[in-house]
Amino acid sequence: MVSCNKCAARGGVAYGEEPSMAEETYTFRCTVCGWEVTVDTPELPDDFVCEVCGVGPEDFELVDE
Ligand SMILES: [Zn+2]
Repeated sequence: MVSCNKCAARGGVAYGEEPSMAEETYTFRCTVCGWEVTVDTPELPDDFVCEVCGVGPEDFELVDE
């Protein structure tokens, strides 16, 4: 199946291949390593950690598209 960063952000929960009907999404970028994650909430949870370098949500910035 297609592995998208949205699914990864949701802990591997299957979510469909095309989130075209989904709610608004928000992309956050790790300011330390540049890893990006897309979630459907405007804030990352307090216990969120970068999958690459392990920093917390305070080191992510919202990417405006
Ligand atoms: Zn990182």
